[in-house]
Amino acid sequence: MRAPELAGRLKRLLFPARCVVCGKVTPDGGDFCSICDLSGEYISADCCELCGEEKKNCACKGRKNHFEKLCAPFYYRGSVKEMVRNFKFRGKQWLREPLSRYMAERAEEKLNVQEIDVVTCVPFTKKQLRRRGYNQSGLLAEGVARDLGLPFDGELLVKLYDINAQHSMAKANRAGNVMGIFHVPCPEKVRGRTVLLCDDIKTTGATLDECSKMLILNGAYKVYGLCLAVAGRNEAGNGRQENWQD
Ligand SMILES: [Zn+2]
Ligand SMILES: [Zn+2]
Repeated sequence: MRAPELAGRLKRLLFPARCVVCGKVTPDGGDFCSICDLSGEYISADCCELCGEEKKNCACKGRKNHFEKLCAPFYYRGSVKEMVRNFKFRGKQWLREPLSRYMAERAEEKLNVQEIDVVTCVPFTKKQLRRRGYNQSGLLAEGVARDLGLPFDGELLVKLYDINAQHSMAKANRAGNVMGIFHVPCPEKVRGRTVLLCDDIKTTGATLDECSKMLILNGAYKVYGLCLAVAGRNEAGNGRQENWQD
């Protein structure tokens, strides 16, 4: 056995790869153990470019948005849901690493990454940021930007005020519910540029659409949407007591 191989084996013995979620040693040296493995929720690459869902589940029927395309690596269910909750609500910020890597990979598969000038995120209000301490979409967007070798600017958009109980709103109300709550403070930073807008979970897409609209109205050339997970119709419409925006 050659020296580097031996060193590698020794290293794995002494410092075996551990699951980033639960800390168990992973058999194949990967990021996740079999329980925390997200592959069961993976959206196949043959997905609708407008809503991000697999073509057989596409609910948008080709409806146009202000973003050019939207993609996401996962459905919001099962182990993905558990991991997002850990990331969002239980302060496990280090989950950003593996999660943003999946997003960056999906962007490389589905978008023309060379076109993108800047990566940004759906913003929090100051109050939300004080309460949580971090904006999970901002952390993901930063990770995506780093993985894709693109600049990140988390301040292209500002959220002016909170809206509550997004989750329980009827779909029809939700587009109106987010209207006017986002603002572009420095239009010169978006003018003529292609923006990659990141969020954690897409439900109806109203938030992404409204943010994209504001970027376009302020002169952005094109906006692409990238989410970690898409809540399929069942997940989005059951009115569970969970504040999506929060
Ligand atoms: Zn695990
Ligand atoms: Zn669709």
